[in-house]
Amino acid sequence: MVKATDLFIIGGGPAGLATAIAARRRGLDVVVADGAQPPIDKPCGEGLMPDGLAALHQLGIFIPANLSHPFRGIRFLSGELSVAAGFPHSFGIGVRRTELHRIMIDAASAMGITMLWQTPISSLHSAGVRIGKDLVRSRWIVGADGGQSLVRQWAGLDRYSYDRTRYAFRRHYRIAPWGEFMEIHWGPKCQIYVTPISADEVCVALISRTPDLRLDHALPNFPELHSRLEAVDPSSAERGAISSTRKLRRVYNDRLILVGDASGAVDAITGEGLCLCFRQAELLADCLLTGDLQRYQRVHRRFALRPVLMANLMLTLDWTTPFRQRVMRAFSADNTLFARLLAMHVGASSSTEFAVAGLGLGWRLLRA
Ligand SMILES: Cc1cc2nc3c(=O)[nH]c(=O)nc-3n(C[C@H](O)[C@H](O)[C@H](O)COP(=O)(O)OP(=O)(O)OC[C@H]3O[C@@H](n4cnc5c(N)ncnc54)[C@H](O)[C@@H]3O)c2cc1C
Repeated sequence: MVKATDLFIIGGGPAGLATAIAARRRGLDVVVADGAQPPIDKPCGEGLMPDGLAALHQLGIFIPANLSHPFRGIRFLSGELSVAAGFPHSFGIGVRRTELHRIMIDAASAMGITMLWQTPISSLHSAGVRIGKDLVRSRWIVGADGGQSLVRQWAGLDRYSYDRTRYAFRRHYRIAPWGEFMEIHWGPKCQIYVTPISADEVCVALISRTPDLRLDHALPNFPELHSRLEAVDPSSAERGAISSTRKLRRVYNDRLILVGDASGAVDAITGEGLCLCFRQAELLADCLLTGDLQRYQRVHRRFALRPVLMANLMLTLDWTTPFRQRVMRAFSADNTLFARLLAMHVGASSSTEFAVAGLGLGWRLLRA
C-alpha cells in the first residue's frame, strides 16, 4: 500500500489520467484511484475534434489509426436542409471510449504511475486521502471524479455561476460510416449526433432536455437517419448520461484542485469536453510545479470561454424549428459562414474572423 505521494488523483477517467501523465512527465510522484474497473465505458459521443486531438498529442498520446476513424468536418442536418464544412487544416477522429481509456492507462502505466482500480474514495483527510482505514499522505489532491463530483462537495467548491442540465442516451450501431463528416441532426427539442468510430461502426448520441426521451422514440423524428439505422442491429446497449453546462466560482481550495468535468463542463453537443480535460491537465501540472493555483483558475476560465460561447450559439438552434430553418438557409446561401464558425469552434480562427462571420450570418438572417 502506498503511504505517501506528491499528487493523489481521485478519478481515473480521461481528466484524471491526463493529469497524472502530465504531472509524471514533470517528475511528480502520482497515485490515481478510481472506483470502477477499466476500461471504463462512460457514455460519450466519442468524437475528438482537431483541437482535442492536438491536446492529446501534447500529452504524448497517439491513437493508432486502426483503433479510430477520421472525420474531416461537421455536417448539420435539419429537416430537408443540410450544411457541411471541413476543419481548416486537420481532421477529427472518432474513438471508442474504452479504447481511449485503455490507451491512456497503458501510457500511464509505462510511466510508473500507480493506479488503484475498484478503489472508491469516500473521504478526505487533512494530510491526504483515506482508502478504507489507511491514509495516503499527499502534497496535492486532485478531484477528477466527473460531473457529479463528490470531491467538489467535500471541498466546499459546489458553488456555480451557472448550471444547465440536459439528458443524453448513447448507443453504437454496426454499420459503415456513410460520409466523411461527424453529423449533428437537429430535431424538435433534441439533437442526435453520429460519430464514425471505425470502418464498420458509428456512435449515436441523443441529447435533449427531457430525461426520459430515448433513442427509439426520437429516431422516427429524423427520417433520413432512421431509415439508415432501423434495420441495423445495435452493437451496444443504450446508456444514459447527464450533459451539464456548468461554471464553478472556484476550482481549487488550499491544496485540493478540480479538473475535467468535476471542475465545470460544457454541453456535450460541442464535442469539446475531452479537449478541455487534456488542456486543463497540462495547465494544472505546470501550475503544481510553481504552486500557482490562481493561474490555474484564471487560465482554466479562459479555456472554457470559446466552448461555452459556441455551445450557447449552437443551442439557439434549439429555440424553434422556424428559427433553425432560417439559420440553416442562411448557412446554405453562403457556405463560408458555416466554415468560419466551425474554424472558430475548433480554435483555428481569430475573434475578428469570428465577428465577421457573425455579422455575415446576422445579415443573411435579416434578408432570409
Ligand atoms: C452524452 C455525452 C456525449 C459526449 N460527447 C463528447 C464528445 O463527442 N467529445 C468530447 O470531447 N466530449 C464529449 N463529452 C464530454 C466528455 O465525455 C467528458 O468531458 C469527459 O468524460 C470528462 O472526463 P472526466 O475524467 O472529467 O470525468 P469522467 O469521464 O466522468 O470520469 C470520472 C471518473 O471518476 C471516477 N470516480 C467518481 N467518483 C469517484 C470516487 N469517489 N472515487 C474514485 N473514483 C471516482 C469514475 O469512476 C470515473 O472513472 C460527452 C459527454 C456526454 C454526457
